[in-house]
Amino acid sequence: MSHGAVDSSMSSVEAYQSAILAALTPLEPTRLELADAEGCVLAEDITAAVQLPPFDNSSMDGYAVQAADVTGAAGQSPARLRVTGEIAAGDTGVYRLLPGTALRIMTGAPLPAGADAVVPVEWTDGGIAQVEVYRPAGPGNAVRYAGGDAAAGETLLTAGTRMRPMQIAVAASAGRKAVTVRPRPRVVVLSTGDELTEPGTPLVRGRIWDSNSYMLVAAAREAGALAYRRAVVPDDPAGVLPALEEQLIRADLLITTGGVSMGGEHDVVKAALAELGTVNFLKVAMQPGMPQGFGVIGQDNIPLFTLPGNPVSAYVSFQLFVRPAIAALQGAADLALTATRATLTGPARSPAGRRSYLRGVLDGSQVTPLTGQQSHQVASLGRANALIIVPEQETGLPAGASVDVLLLP
Ligand code: AMP
Ligand code: MG
Repeated sequence: MSHGAVDSSMSSVEAYQSAILAALTPLEPTRLELADAEGCVLAEDITAAVQLPPFDNSSMDGYAVQAADVTGAAGQSPARLRVTGEIAAGDTGVYRLLPGTALRIMTGAPLPAGADAVVPVEWTDGGIAQVEVYRPAGPGNAVRYAGGDAAAGETLLTAGTRMRPMQIAVAASAGRKAVTVRPRPRVVVLSTGDELTEPGTPLVRGRIWDSNSYMLVAAAREAGALAYRRAVVPDDPAGVLPALEEQLIRADLLITTGGVSMGGEHDVVKAALAELGTVNFLKVAMQPGMPQGFGVIGQDNIPLFTLPGNPVSAYVSFQLFVRPAIAALQGAADLALTATRATLTGPARSPAGRRSYLRGVLDGSQVTPLTGQQSHQVASLGRANALIIVPEQETGLPAGASVDVLLLP
């Protein structure tokens, strides 16, 4: 383990992440039907319109009683009560329980006035006209009290919360048909390169199939965005800028891949965007993914990432930089990858002065670096479930070392 010098011409991963977040403005809130709000982020608090549950009700199928009438009930000496009726879930009638009697009651049905307990049917003979009760039920037994879940006016969800199925349930239970949310960002992905061929069409020598645009659309959708793929753009400086401008109308965020290597004359994305002057190209002290670019373009200042062309570089860059940006556009900060600690099962290498994100397989508390760590080696990406972090100052870590690991979503 030797120590590498810190290269001041490079940004740290954290500094670059912060700069991106500082440049983003959340999308305007919009009103959506609850059914369409999944994956969106609340821009308002949701309060309970009424107390929840709205009325005292039974938590079991059984008999509404006065607890005092079944105090001494036992298998040998059951309490016998006359059954005067039945209350089903949804019954809006008014019922009153008279002392010494029982009303059959179903789960979710309103507790009749005068009752203070429910005897589950399992504790009885299940009688229709008369019931034998074999066990005492204390006051409040199997009763769900009004307001026992939430008080009227109570805040149930706060602005900034992502609407996952659990939160959809809460909003619906609170009586909401529509909610004010920041919508799923619309992400457009565009890959550049004369060497790129559409998957599904034959390869000629010198060409490869375009994987980045498919990968990034999938990654953006996985992160909750609405993502669209723009057909491959050739390495033609005159073509890249119009292709990007054409997408501005429908995009909240643009991603390009390729065409940004350090200094190549074929690096058309860099050349095209340099004209606009608002995209910052820099080196980030990481591997893979050192050449990065971020800025805003067009009248509406649409954020744009220029990701490196190598598929693994593009993938890691997406997870570290674009994923949090998608959350930020929704006014949230919940999309950073989950971090954990694990023990290396084999050695890991890293260039001096740069933080490595190695593809690995996490299994419990052990993590194994995969073979094939070069940035074009997409096959090993398909076997990875985690990224192993080797810090900037390390050039290698031995088996048995404890490392930070990011879980891949
Ligand atoms: P570039 O950043 O354009 O110099 O590309 C770097 C490397 O990534 C080259 O080997 C490219 O062939 C490869 N590459 C660029 N774009 C893609 C893509 N969309 N799919 C797969 N590989 C790509
Ligand atoms: Mg290229």
